[in-house]
Amino acid sequence: METIQGIKRTTSEGLFEKAKTFFPGGVNSPVRAFKSVEGSPLFIKKGDGCKIWDEDDNEFIDFCCSWGPLILGHNHPAVYTKIVAALQNGASFGAPTRLENELAELILDRNPFIDKIRFVSSGTEAVMSALRLARGYTGKDKIIKFEGCYHGHSDSLLVKAGSGLVTLGESSSAGVPEHVAMDTLVLPLNDIEALKKCVAENKNEIACAIIEPIPANNGLLLQEKTFLLALREICTENGILLFFDEVISGFRVAFSGAAEYYGIKPDLVTYGKIIGGGLPVGAYGASKEIMACVSPDGPVYQAGTLSGNPVAMAAGIAQLTECAKPGFYEDQAERTTYFVSIINAYAKSKGYNFELVTVGSIFWLSFDGKKSIHKADEINPDMTGFKNLHRELLNRGVYLGPSGYEVGFVSSAHSKEILETAAGIFCECLDVIF
Ligand SMILES: *Cc1c(COP(=O)(O)O)cnc(C)c1O
Repeated sequence: METIQGIKRTTSEGLFEKAKTFFPGGVNSPVRAFKSVEGSPLFIKKGDGCKIWDEDDNEFIDFCCSWGPLILGHNHPAVYTKIVAALQNGASFGAPTRLENELAELILDRNPFIDKIRFVSSGTEAVMSALRLARGYTGKDKIIKFEGCYHGHSDSLLVKAGSGLVTLGESSSAGVPEHVAMDTLVLPLNDIEALKKCVAENKNEIACAIIEPIPANNGLLLQEKTFLLALREICTENGILLFFDEVISGFRVAFSGAAEYYGIKPDLVTYGKIIGGGLPVGAYGASKEIMACVSPDGPVYQAGTLSGNPVAMAAGIAQLTECAKPGFYEDQAERTTYFVSIINAYAKSKGYNFELVTVGSIFWLSFDGKKSIHKADEINPDMTGFKNLHRELLNRGVYLGPSGYEVGFVSSAHSKEILETAAGIFCECLDVIF
């Protein structure tokens, strides 16, 4: 089969040239720049359901879904209606509103892992704040993080931190002072011995161990449950807080995230992405005792002009109300498995060195043909396969995030019919690239 002619991109190209005069690299978040795939980024004009349209009027089935937040797809009627209703009363007050209570209640009533929550405006902010809380509560400075996990772009955590950096050929950011990075102890994922050794060497100095319990920002590095259980146990034994960064996995693999999926209780949790229904919301939560340290109740300061913004809260309430309905996650997983199985069965029948790795409604394109990749350094760094597949999919109307280290997302708007169509296109593209 032949490579088909590329889509028309003239309008997007023009906008990108202009954008480059305004923004570093022409973008407001680096991976959007299409650096590791072919062509320039598509400027998106509109989204509806599981589809998006670019400025050149190309139509795509969208598997990026704004990098995760849109678990109901674009422009979901319930979310749209609730946002508009909130907006009619004003965009922001900087004073408490009823909507904050409503979103908190919706979450806390269903979440057995945390007693209290604090809303912020992004995942980065949530993690940064919860990290300060971990240090303030324990009185210790060092933290453990795992290689390949991304926790937003705050200084302490930009060490060996996943897709955005790896896509651009770096592993850690410039501009992070050495004395800050020194307190971040970086360990390989899924390695109990390395963890034990590190904890022994830093006895009574470690505030918390932060992990994406389902690492999904540097491939999909599913952990063995035995590792997560060992991590829980070692943290408990050593007075280290276990910090689950559930910005991607929260409300994605289950309502209460990976903690619910694996049945493991973390001491601190962060949420983001899905929690805001497509608007900027992050949150951190913990037990009453730990949260009592947060200002104004306690000495750990944290604030935000737009925290708990009413329009964003409304979007979150509308979206999480849908997610909380019985069977929502089973249905998500069922449709995703259907999609993934078609493609994997085809790749296997043809002997292609390719498979989709999946959990819940997340999938990742692995070109290793090697099952069970648990660690960042087990990923094949040659992204040629992804680059080719990305181009062929785009030319046939399927949109994936522009990096082979990023995962894809299935929303509730991706019907079985659409998924069957998309799977057919995937198989056709695999024939072209292999
Ligand atoms: C996306 C993400 C973040 C950062 O959230 P932003 O809203 O982009 O700041 C942090 N941690 C994890 C696990 C994420 O997936």
